[in-house]
Amino acid sequence: MNIVIECEKVSKSYENISALRDINLRLAQGSFLAVFGPNGAGKTTLLKILSNLVRPTSGTVKINGVPISDETNEIRRSIGVVSHNTFLYNNLTPYENLEFYGKMYNVPDLKKRIGEVIDEVGLTARMNDPVRTFSRGMMQRLSIARVLMPDPSIIYLDEPYTGLDQHAAIKLRDILRNLKKGDRTIIMITHNIERGLEVCTHVAIQAMGRIVYMEEIEKVDRDNFETKYFDMVGKGHY
Ligand code: ADP
Repeated sequence: MNIVIECEKVSKSYENISALRDINLRLAQGSFLAVFGPNGAGKTTLLKILSNLVRPTSGTVKINGVPISDETNEIRRSIGVVSHNTFLYNNLTPYENLEFYGKMYNVPDLKKRIGEVIDEVGLTARMNDPVRTFSRGMMQRLSIARVLMPDPSIIYLDEPYTGLDQHAAIKLRDILRNLKKGDRTIIMITHNIERGLEVCTHVAIQAMGRIVYMEEIEKVDRDNFETKYFDMVGKGHY
């Protein structure tokens, strides 16, 4: 089994706030981990540490066996992050936005790659319209296309379903199903239990800075998962 993401005893404190406590995590290549947890559980902090935007207070993180603290361009290039910030330029078209990022990452055969990723997120028909005319769902999909440009082997998604209507959420689900084909390793934070369970290979529940539950999806009792979740995190959080 090829372990792609590995955390050992990772903790993070912000002054007197303990955001992460003793996180141990091992994810094999091709895994899609859905992380559920109430606000303040430390989920975003964990993703920031796993993308080397934030340093842990203690513990080690390895990506493909290499400590993230020795980060190389190769590690950076291998990780794509889909967050609330779309990093899109509203006055540019999807094509122009992707061309910009493609050049930044020296993506070879740029025109072909742009065509591929735009097709993957279902935006080919809107390729030449300014992004400012896009719905939230379309922006989200273009943001995924941007992240896909350098073909990252690891993708993190922080609450991608937030603000999407049912139609946009279904489109996103289909894109996520496609993303996990192949060898990509994916971590997605979401409050949407139903959407998380339907795409993932592994489930984690994070509460008060700890991973309090982690299981393979085949071993999860989906019908009773929500009850289990609230039992573990406490109903007071909602
Ligand atoms: P989640 O994503 O699960 O909502 P976060 O990782 O955003 O949780 O936050 C975990 C805890 O760390 C919270 O108590 C939050 O207030 C705190 N925290 C997060 N980022 C910072 C920061 N930059 N400075 C101080 N405290 C922070």
